Amino acid sequence: MSTLRFHAVKESLAFKPVSINETERRSEIFGRNVFNENTMRQYLTKDAFVGVMNAIQYGKKIDRSIADQVASSMKDWALSKGVTHYTHWFQPLTGATAEKHDAFFETIGGGMAIEKFGGSQLVQQEPDASSFPSGGIRNTFEARGYTAWDPTSPAFIYGTTLCIPTIFVAYTGEALDYKTPLLRALNEVDNAATDVCKYFDKNVKKVTSSLGWEQEYFLIDKMLAASRPDITLTGRTLLGHSSAKGQQLDDHYFGSIPNRALNFMRELETECMLLGIPVKTRHNEVAPNQFELAPIFEEANLAVDHNSLLMDIMGRVASRHNFKVLLHEKPFAGINGSGKHNNWSLSTDTGVNLLSPGKTPMSNLQFLTFFINTIKGVHEHEALLRAAIASASNDHRLGANEAPPAIMSVFIGEQLTKVLEELEGVTKGKLSPEEKTELKLNVVGKIPDVLLDNTDRNRTSPFAFTGNKFEFRAVGSTANCGNPMTVLNTIVAKQLKDFKIEVDKLIASKGLKKDEAIFNVLREYIKSCRNILFEGNGYGIEWEKEAKKRGLSNNRTTPEALKARVSKETIALFEEMNVMSKIETEARYEIEIEAYIMHIQIESRVLGDIARNHIVPTAVKYQNILIENVKGLKEIFDKKFTTVSNEQINLIEEISGHIEAINVKVTNMIDERRKANSIEDIEKKADVYCNKVKPFFEEIRYHCDKLELLVDDEIWPLTKYRELLFTR
Ligand code: ADP
Ligand code: MG
Repeated sequence: MSTLRFHAVKESLAFKPVSINETERRSEIFGRNVFNENTMRQYLTKDAFVGVMNAIQYGKKIDRSIADQVASSMKDWALSKGVTHYTHWFQPLTGATAEKHDAFFETIGGGMAIEKFGGSQLVQQEPDASSFPSGGIRNTFEARGYTAWDPTSPAFIYGTTLCIPTIFVAYTGEALDYKTPLLRALNEVDNAATDVCKYFDKNVKKVTSSLGWEQEYFLIDKMLAASRPDITLTGRTLLGHSSAKGQQLDDHYFGSIPNRALNFMRELETECMLLGIPVKTRHNEVAPNQFELAPIFEEANLAVDHNSLLMDIMGRVASRHNFKVLLHEKPFAGINGSGKHNNWSLSTDTGVNLLSPGKTPMSNLQFLTFFINTIKGVHEHEALLRAAIASASNDHRLGANEAPPAIMSVFIGEQLTKVLEELEGVTKGKLSPEEKTELKLNVVGKIPDVLLDNTDRNRTSPFAFTGNKFEFRAVGSTANCGNPMTVLNTIVAKQLKDFKIEVDKLIASKGLKKDEAIFNVLREYIKSCRNILFEGNGYGIEWEKEAKKRGLSNNRTTPEALKARVSKETIALFEEMNVMSKIETEARYEIEIEAYIMHIQIESRVLGDIARNHIVPTAVKYQNILIENVKGLKEIFDKKFTTVSNEQINLIEEISGHIEAINVKVTNMIDERRKANSIEDIEKKADVYCNKVKPFFEEIRYHCDKLELLVDDEIWPLTKYRELLFTR
């Protein structure tokens, strides 16, 4: 092992775990640093409390005097906890969270100062927005944007800063963040679902969308990660031969969590508890040094904020434990990548999960209504759903023979498939009394029983029904869940809206009873969206062929997939549902395409540098050693030389071959990059990066990885897979 690598490994092994002292129960510290309902009750006047609660529950406007009261109380609460600064906390389209801290401190003349925080500072701020991606919405003349308080996500204290969750919009009102369209989509799904719920229960006033994400990640020793320029700059390894031992023994999955990782998790969980993030589950994942963390599900907007916050905190806590967290979807070739399953459901303010089968035939008809409408929504907008999870890093999972495929399909299990088949047989129009009894007792009535033994879970499906929720599994581990959640809730809202119109029409024009009308519409839906249902192996080539026949899209790369983001249908959908204007939709597309180009560009540069500056010089050095060796042998053995040194000469030749291949391919890759950079049209540019530049990655890597096996370990400059993955 090279001295550099040796020292890095030695230091990582010598690292003494930070000791964690958990003296208080988690239930006691939960939400301690959050300005939540409980805290507000203590700090706010009655008026202010009612005002904020109305804003949270019913989206009512908060007037200025109440905002002043809330700000003043928030400040008092924060100061009592040693806080000095406040910030509007938001999620611009960079993918990271953003904050700009201001002190509460103000001078008041006469050499005196006070701590101050008013309603206007709480409600609105104007951070310099010119350096955040806007997709051409703001040109430099109109660089202003503002952040505005989102009272539905409570303020929290991190370190010594009071963080106020906000939306981020351009001065002309267009959304520049993930939260704004999400809030609009959640509002739409609430309206549409509440209307549909009224068929079943007049008392329903609000429907909430819930999200429970499962975050997968890798933990790598900080020192070892820092020794790799690719990990440092791109979050993943661009080369590296697979380790002799990988994940083939399955000995990591659900195994005992290594001590150092466990200490990291405990501290992370404590931080989460203080911030009111209800983390509950932790375990080892399939790949070595890969783990998962999952909370109890929450209202979708809050859950999205909590996931963004979590990703930020993970990095900070990891650093204290001498770890680097890798959130990338595919940090290592040849072993599992990371995802972020988005578990999603809808529930009413009367306490009913609309995706959970009930006890009576009527509540099951309600379940089937939401269940089938969700499937239909996915069917109508499968390409958009695929686009919602497209990114350069997620391309390594989707369509690359890893969970899940790039084809969107819905898995519902054998039992529910049977239920749908029976429903499909419902007579058109009015039902006979026998049909009604049959439906109620034998089809709809039996759903809870069938679900109980429906333990079959297809792990290869990108969108699976798992008992009382849908699990959108194709979301990438680095993603802001706001994007997929906006799309999913919008398509379901649109679907429910259409459903309501159709059912009402049947009732009015054909004189059908409500449940007959519902059965009739659902039957037609089942027929028309059967194509999206798939129970088989999602990784197989057979499925690709079959999906093609069914007319489902199979967009393997981000540039291909993103096109659905600006299709006529998508623009119309977002406009109709008041989620995004045409300008906003197009701007987002532009930002995502540009992000793709930049990711591939950076990876290409880093790979070129490593290949030329690390790998080739090392290979040449080793080659020279071999050449000296052959010369020496020749001197000693002279005539017998040919038999003795064949091996070495072959080795020298082999190394030469790889060196040459690397040099040629790096040069060609740079040429393609130059060509790409001269293209104005960003769609074409992304295409060239995807199809002309990126293919070199695998080729260059192939030769570098071969050299890793040939060159003396003593002089190999890059920390190897076995060291990255098995040092703990
Ligand atoms: P797994 O899918 O790994 O078996 P679970 O199904 O128990 O794990 O839970 C995964 C995530 O789904 C958790 O965050 C959990 O809180 C969430 N979840 C459970 N029920 C619902 C629901 N009705 N709506 C949304 N999320 C849910
Ligand atoms: Mg799951």
